[in-house]
Amino acid sequence: MHELAITKEVIRIIREEAEKNSISSVKYVSLELGGLTTYKKESLLYFFNILKKDEEALQEAVLKIIEVGGKVRCKECGAVGTVEDPILPLCKACDSSDIEITQGKDLRLRDLRGN
Ligand SMILES: [Zn+2]
Repeated sequence: MHELAITKEVIRIIREEAEKNSISSVKYVSLELGGLTTYKKESLLYFFNILKKDEEALQEAVLKIIEVGGKVRCKECGAVGTVEDPILPLCKACDSSDIEITQGKDLRLRDLRGN
C-alpha cells in the first residue's frame, strides 16, 4: 500500500508544478519510474485515478508512466551495467555489492502539460 503515500506526494508535486507554470487544468503528466524502486506501475495508476477526482486541476489529467531500468557503476572494478534486482544489486562483472546506483532509484516528474 505504500503506493498510496507516494501517489499523494506525486500529486502534491504536480500541483506545485502546475501552479508554477500557471496551468489550471492539467491534461498530461508523465512520470519516470525507476526500475530499482519497489513501486508498481499499476498501483500508481490506480491510486492516481482515484485521487485525481479530488483535485480540481487534475480532472482531465492522463498519467503516463515511463519505466526506466536500473543502472549501476561498480566502485570495485568500475564496470557500468544494468541491474534488475532492486533488493541486492550486484556488479555483473565482479559480483561486488559495492556499487553506486546511477539511474533507476527514484520516481520523478518528467513532463507536465495543460492549460
Ligand atoms: Zn565490479
